[in-house]
Amino acid sequence: MRRIGANYIITNTGKAIRNAYLELNDNGVIINLIEHNGELEEVSGLEFYNGVLVPGFVNTHTHLELSYMKDKLKPKKGLPYFISSLREIREQAKQDEIQTAISLADEELKREAVVLVADISNTKDTIETKKSSSLPYKTFIEIFGIDKYQAQSVFENAKELMTEFRENNLDSSITPHATYSVSEKLFSLITELSYQENATLCIHNQETESENLMFINKTGELFDFFSSLGLNLDSFYPTGYNSLPSVIVQLPKCSKLNLVHNTFTTQEDINKVNAYSKHAYWTICPNANLYIEDKLPDINMLYQNNLKICIGTDSLASNTRLSIIEELKTIQKYFPDIPFIDLIKWSSYNGAEALDTLDYLGSFEKGKSPGVALIENFDFENFKLKDDSTVRLLQTSS
Ligand SMILES: [Zn+2]
Repeated sequence: MRRIGANYIITNTGKAIRNAYLELNDNGVIINLIEHNGELEEVSGLEFYNGVLVPGFVNTHTHLELSYMKDKLKPKKGLPYFISSLREIREQAKQDEIQTAISLADEELKREAVVLVADISNTKDTIETKKSSSLPYKTFIEIFGIDKYQAQSVFENAKELMTEFRENNLDSSITPHATYSVSEKLFSLITELSYQENATLCIHNQETESENLMFINKTGELFDFFSSLGLNLDSFYPTGYNSLPSVIVQLPKCSKLNLVHNTFTTQEDINKVNAYSKHAYWTICPNANLYIEDKLPDINMLYQNNLKICIGTDSLASNTRLSIIEELKTIQKYFPDIPFIDLIKWSSYNGAEALDTLDYLGSFEKGKSPGVALIENFDFENFKLKDDSTVRLLQTSS
C-alpha cells in the first residue's frame, strides 16, 4: 500500500482539499482519501509532497504520426497554408525519421502525466509504438473525401486500417476529419458504424474563419484552396449557416461527439448543438490555435455555457510541446477568471468521460485508478499555475 499526500488534493468531485492524503493499493487503485485536520508528519509511511495532487491527465487530441513535422511549419500562416505544407512535407518523409519522432512523442506524453490519449491516425505508422507503450491510446482512424462517388471506397480503406489496429489489440474506430472535408454519403457511412459500435466520434471543428464562410456562401480562403487543388466542389451546397450547425444533423445523436478546436464557434452554434445532442464534448488545443491561426476560442463563452470542455495538444506539427499543463498555462494567461479547479476537471474528468473511461480514470474516488499526478512550483496564494509550474506522475494508472 502507498500513502501519498500534498498541500492540496483536487479530486474532481468537490472542492480542493487541504492537507489530505490518498491510500492506494499495489495496483494504484484508491482505497481511501483521508482528510487530516492535524499535521500530516505523524502519519506513518506517508510520502508528502509540496504541491497539488491531481488525477492523471487525459489528452483528447493528438496526431502522433505527425510528430516528425516539429518545427517544420511556419507559425501563424493560417489553416490552408498548414494543410498544403503538411502534404508537401509528408511526401519527403523517411520512415525511420517518422518512427523515431513517434516514439519520442510517446515518451513526452508519459513525462507530462498523461494516462490516456485520443490519437488521430491516417496511417499505420503509430502501431509499433502504441503496441509497446505503457500508455493506452484510443485511435481514431480519420477519413475525408468530398467526392460522394468515392465515399464507399474511402470508407472500406479506413475499415481495413481499423482492422489492422484491432489485430494488434489497439482500440480504434473510424471518425470524420472535419465539417468541410466529408461528403454527405461518407458522413452517413461513418455515422451508421458509430451507432453500431457506440463509438465516440472526433471531428475537427471551426478551426478557421474560412470554414464558416465555405458553408455560408462558398467563399473564403479554404474554399479557394480546395478549388485550387482541382477538387470538384459542384455538389457542395452552401447552407447560409456556419459549418457546425450545417453538419450537426449528419452526426450521430446518441454517440459521444468530441468537437475539436472550436476557435470560431459562436453562441448560436452552441445552442444548435445543445438542441441536437446531449453528448457533445468540446476539446480545445490553445497552443496549436495560436500556432496556426494566432487566435483562441472564446473559452469564457464555452465555460459560461457549462460545456464539457476537454484539453488536447494537437500535433507537434502545430505545437512545440505535448503538454497539458502548458495548455492550461495558456488558458490561465488569456482567461484568468476561470478557476484552476475547473481547468483540472477539463484535463482529466471530462476527457475520461468523453472516452468512456470514467469508471476508472478522471477523479480520485474509491475503486478508481486514475493515476496520481503532482503539480510542483504552484502559486498557492492565488491558487494558480506559475510560468515554471511542472507536473509528473507519482503513480501510473493500472
Ligand atoms: Zn487535429
